[in-house]
Formats: sequence, structure tokens, C-alpha cells
Amino acid sequence: MSRAALALVGELVSFDTTSRNSNLALIDYAQACLEDGGARCRRSYDRAGGKANLFATIGPGETDGFVLSGHTDVVPVDGQDWSSDPFEPEIRDGRLYGRGTADMKGFIGVALSLIPQIAAAPLRRPIHFALSYDEELGCRGVPALLEDLAATEIRPALAVIGEPTGMRIVGAHKSGAVVRTCCHGREGHSSAPDKGANAVMMAGEFIAYLAGVGRALRDDVDPAFDPPFTTVQANMIEGGTAVNVLAREAVVTWEYRGLPDRDSERIFREACEHAEREILPKYRRHVPDARIVSELRANYPGLVLDPASPAVALAREISGANDVGTVAYGTEAGLFQRAGVPSVICGPGSIEQAHRADEFVALAQLEACEAFLQKLIARACA
Ligand SMILES: [Zn+2]
Repeated sequence: MSRAALALVGELVSFDTTSRNSNLALIDYAQACLEDGGARCRRSYDRAGGKANLFATIGPGETDGFVLSGHTDVVPVDGQDWSSDPFEPEIRDGRLYGRGTADMKGFIGVALSLIPQIAAAPLRRPIHFALSYDEELGCRGVPALLEDLAATEIRPALAVIGEPTGMRIVGAHKSGAVVRTCCHGREGHSSAPDKGANAVMMAGEFIAYLAGVGRALRDDVDPAFDPPFTTVQANMIEGGTAVNVLAREAVVTWEYRGLPDRDSERIFREACEHAEREILPKYRRHVPDARIVSELRANYPGLVLDPASPAVALAREISGANDVGTVAYGTEAGLFQRAGVPSVICGPGSIEQAHRADEFVALAQLEACEAFLQKLIARACA
């Protein structure tokens, strides 16, 4: 692998782009690299203006061409036990360690390092870069980028999403949603439960309901996925102030990850109905304004396997891979597909290493990614 690629990946890792932070310093840096290569750049911002997506094009015209896509944000390192500074990239035993090395600054860094080569290549179709924010919060950034593109003449032929697949070709992923459910009751002495409405007990009933939904969904199987069914999990819960006080508030944050061609939003709708019809009436007998309010905090579609996808065909041709895999985690590929841009997922590193302490990408993976992207550039010249 070229030294430039390794240096660029390291440079990106040193920006602390944990999703709660601004990503603008990294975006400025990437935009400067892209403009050095003659790229035409556009940004789309979040509402507060502290985060941006960057879309850039090198080569002839705006229509057609290949998108290299990655998210710039990373998950927090809070509470994780790292052997080295997560934002100081370090090479040990043929691996590059640091937050985001696998997910997914390895891919973005390698792609950006090829800008001089792309700029010098006799391109017959453009190469685009799409860098997003807030992917780790449920793909909340990239919709602004896709809306911005829809308002222009830019119509890429396909996109490669460089999430860590070990450079395997992945043509489908599950959908997903993050839901925050707030239970509102009324405080009171815990010796007299009927004089209040205990929000923690409501939350407990709600979670028990979700567990049942998850069990029922295990019967609907697509063996292409692991696990082969839609999953439902409550992952965070908070509420209550003291052991002898009926809780006024409780909040359950939960998620579902659905098989891509199912109507998973049904899970959200039915959970709202269940709360209203089955849980609340008994609390409202004593506290009429008891309520359970659910809010979709994130919601992204699955990537549906398309046997005719030009993105999958190109990636297979370049890599020589015979099989097309699936992943259970979400990516931005489903949103690109829904926006009319056929997409495939292929990137260096393993999802096993993502989101953990001592995240790393093997240097051999970065090298394979570089070779893959060089072939893709060659295809844009053909
Ligand atoms: Zn990722």
C-alpha cells in the first residue's frame, strides 16, 4: 500500500469526529484534498450548521459515474479500555489501530489518497465522493446529501459504500430504526400504587411486549441473513427517583433491525397501538393523563438484494468474487438505493472490530482496498 494512503487514513483518525462533535474540521481537510484534484464540491449541513456532508465530483460531467461513499463520524470511546490513544493512529503487528480505522476512515482515507491519480486519469465518466455525518446515529446525515443531489443534475450510475466487509461484496442489509418511548405517570407514595401511575412499571410492560414481538418475528426467516429474522431490542432504560416513590417518568430506547423487504415500520405503529389499547387503560383509571409517547429517532431502509444491480455487477467483476453477501447491520446503501442510485457495500476491515476498544484495520485490508479502487478508476476510463 502507498505511504500516502496510510498517512491519509492516520490523518483522518486524528480528527475526533465522535457523532456528538462537529465534523467540519475533517470536512475542510477532505475538501482541500479534493479541490487540489480539481473536484467540484458541494456541502449540505445539519440544522445547527455544525456538521456537513460533502459531495465532490472529479471528471467529465455530472451524470453517470461512480460514487465512493463513507460516513465521517465515529462511535464514542467512552468507558472503553484502549491500549493506545484512540485518536493517535498506531501501527502494531501489521494493523493500524485507532477509532474509525475500520469503521470507516480506512476506506475514506484510501479513497482520498487516490485523488492525484483520479485527477490525472483519462476519465470518461466522473468519480464522485460522498462523505456524510451522523451515520452512527441511524443514518441521519446522508438524507440531506441525497436531497441536495435530487435538486441538481447530478445522477451517479452507482455507489460503493465502504463499510467494513473484509472487502467482500455485500448486496443487501437489514433496515433499522431507533425509537424513544417516554412513559409519563404520576408520582406518589409507593405504598399506594393506585393513587399514582408508576412509569417504571409501564415501561416494564412495554419492554415485555417488545420481547414478545421479537419472539414472534423469529418465525419469519430469510436464511441469507445472520440472524435470519427481524430483531427487536430495548437497549437503554432510565426512570424513577427513589425506591419508595412511584416513578413519574421512564424512558425506554429501543431498536429494530428488519429483513430489508418487509414492512418493519409496522413494528413501530403496532407498539404505539399496543401501549394505547393494552397498557394505558389500567393506569388511566387513576391518572387520566398517563401516557406513553413513542418517537422514531432514526429510521433507515434496508438494502434490497437486486440481482440486476450494476453496482453489484461492477464490484464482482473488479474483485473477481463469485458470491454476494448480506450483513445484519445498517448502512447508507439502502438510502442511496431508495434515491435511485444502485449500491453495493465493500470496504476494508471487519465489523467485528468496529465500535470496540482497540479498533483496527489490517494493513493488508487497506492494500486490498487500494487495489480495488484503482481497478474501479480504470473502469471509469474505459
Ligand atoms: Zn460505519
